[in-house]
This record gives sequence, C-alpha cells and structure tokens, in this order.
Amino acid sequence: MQTLIKNAHVISPGVEIKKANVVVSKGKIKSVTAEPAEGRFDTVVDVKGKYVVPGFIDVHLHGACGYDVCDEDSPEAIEKIAEAKLAEGCTTFLPTTLTVAHKTLLTAAKHLAAYQRNPRFAKAPGLHLEGPFINPACCGAQNPAFVRKPDIREVMKIAKVAPVLQVSYAPETKGGAEFAAACIANGIVPSCGHTGATLAQFMPAYENGLRHMTHFCNQMTKLHHREIGMVGAGFLIDDLDTEVICDRIHLCDDMLRLVFAKRPLEHIQMITDSLRCSHLPDGYAFEMGGLKVLLKGGEARLVEGGNLAGSTLWMNKGLKNIRDVTGLPLKDLIRVTSWNQAIGLGLGKTLGKVEKGYVADLAVLDAKTFDVCAVFLDGEFRPQGKDAV
Ligand SMILES: [Zn+2]
Repeated sequence: MQTLIKNAHVISPGVEIKKANVVVSKGKIKSVTAEPAEGRFDTVVDVKGKYVVPGFIDVHLHGACGYDVCDEDSPEAIEKIAEAKLAEGCTTFLPTTLTVAHKTLLTAAKHLAAYQRNPRFAKAPGLHLEGPFINPACCGAQNPAFVRKPDIREVMKIAKVAPVLQVSYAPETKGGAEFAAACIANGIVPSCGHTGATLAQFMPAYENGLRHMTHFCNQMTKLHHREIGMVGAGFLIDDLDTEVICDRIHLCDDMLRLVFAKRPLEHIQMITDSLRCSHLPDGYAFEMGGLKVLLKGGEARLVEGGNLAGSTLWMNKGLKNIRDVTGLPLKDLIRVTSWNQAIGLGLGKTLGKVEKGYVADLAVLDAKTFDVCAVFLDGEFRPQGKDAV
C-alpha cells in the first residue's frame, strides 16, 4: 500500500515546502520532496495547496462532545473523545483525569485499556493524571474534597490497568520532591500544577528531575518582584516544558506574546485542557468532579465562584490563535503542537514531524481558516469536516 499526497504545503519543525509530494508507505513517511514523486500509488490525494502538518499531540484534555474521561458509566467515553480529537487534527492524546476518588481513576484506566485494544480514532498511549495530589488552595475547578498527598503507590495501582504517562501535582506538598523521582523511575512525566509553591519550594523537585509545568500561569503562584513564584520559575528556567492553553481566554494575548517571546519554543507545549463541553454549543451545563459548570460565551466557568473550569479549544484553532497573536512563522510555531510533546513522551524519533521515517500521522488544514480537511492516521486517509479533501 503506497499513498501519494500531492500539492501539499508541508510545514514541519524548521521546514516549509510548497507544492510538495509526500509519499506514505506502510504507515510511515517514505519521502517528502518538491520533485515529482516516482513509483506506483494505490491512493493519490490532491490536497490542492493546503497545509500538511504533523498530526497534533494534546497531552492535556478531559473531554469533548458531552463525554469526560472520568465518566464511570460511559465505557464509550474515550472512543467518543478520540473521534472528536481526530476531527481537530489531533492524532495522539493523553486522556486526562480530574481530582476524583481512586476507584473513579481505576475505572478511567479500565476504559482506556479497552480503547487501546481497539483504537479506531486518535491514539491514546496513556493517562495524564491531573491531581489528585494538588494544593487544596489552588484547586481551580478541581474538587478539593478528593485532594490527597502524593503517593506513587496509588499511581502504580492505576498503571497496572493502563499506562500512566504524566502526573500533575503540587511539588511543595510533603514528599513532593521524592514523588518526582519516583515518577521518573517509572517512566512517568511529573508535572508541577495546581501549586502554591515558592521558587525555593519547587527546586527540590526540579533537582530530582521535574521538567514540566501544567497549564503555565493558570493555578500556580504568580510573579511578584520579591517572590517570583512558579510563573517566574517558568521565565527563569529555560528547560521546563510549559503547557500553554492557547484559547486567548486562559492567557490574554499580551501574556501569550510574552510567553512566546521569552520562553524557548522547544520547551512550550500547546494543550487544549478541553472539557466535555468542547464541540458543543453555548448554554451547555454540566457537572465536573461534583462541581457545576456552565458554557457561556465560549467560556466554561464554575457556576459558583466563576473560576475557569477548562476550555473548549480545538488544537487546530489553538495553532491559528498563536499564529495570529504572535505573528511567528508556522515552521517555528509548529513544534509546539506536536514535536515537543512527542519528545516529552519519549516518542520524538517517530512522531511530530513530516519527514522521512516518521509515522504518517498528519493533519491537512485549510491555509486560511486552519479548518481540518483530512487526517492521515498511520498513513490511512481519513477525510474530515465539511471541506473534506
Ligand atoms: Zn486540566
């Protein structure tokens, strides 16, 4: 099986080729060239100058289309979310849990394991546990009733059911530094999130290998000129991989400009942090971890207190947002939507680039609107949306 994608405007980290021919064979990219492609092809897809970018990788999202990763009564939740993510051009994602009871986390892992046996849409290699080991003073929209102290044994019980690839937790809590080391020893990315840490309280976890920040700026200590907090840490320490929600709501445009101007692009990971209301119309009301949330004016906020609860962002729209806000070239920006995440997960040699030898996980985007017109998943052509190619 050999596929030719012709008239592709290829954008990959550090690479931009107009009118490229991309040859896909056995699920992998065989060649990317501006020259005529030679060989026999079973399928030829003319994308007519549309962008062909690495399939997006979202390491932080809770739900879509009315489903949440933590829904105990919906074994189909992960598959429904995976289908919605594929429509955003997202080919790999980490289903992300909330601060909930241990048995709920086990059920989410069970549902993921079932999806992994028969993955029909975006790939879901493992869970991201957001909490329950967070700072109760920085819950945001997480339910403080379920907060507990960092415990690698609880994580490993869940990992017996389905892989756990990332844990967001507050490093200042008792045992926080040791927890970072224990995660790394088990191949899990420890991430600093929902945290009230000072820089000094954070450093022991950093010295133990922690290099990731959960939704940078949101639910972490702010920058003050006598205590720079976790926001200051993100600007001071280059090699922290900072997740950024690029919906222009969680961070204002000036903050997005500041982050993309001052932080190295190779250490920024765009996330959606999307909730079950993503892909649904305004006015949708729902409960999250026992708390009431309302989607109004595109913003999902707690009914009580008004905290932002997460986003309705799509990965393709996030890419357009940061291009519009920062004006940076797409061949530079494109690494924050896939390749950085792939490197963080230890998959940087196979995922996140439109280059020879990489897995043919690709998104085809309209060059003006960034709407997703098609996806290639392991080289399989999947038309998407109303303007499908
Ligand atoms: Zn989240």
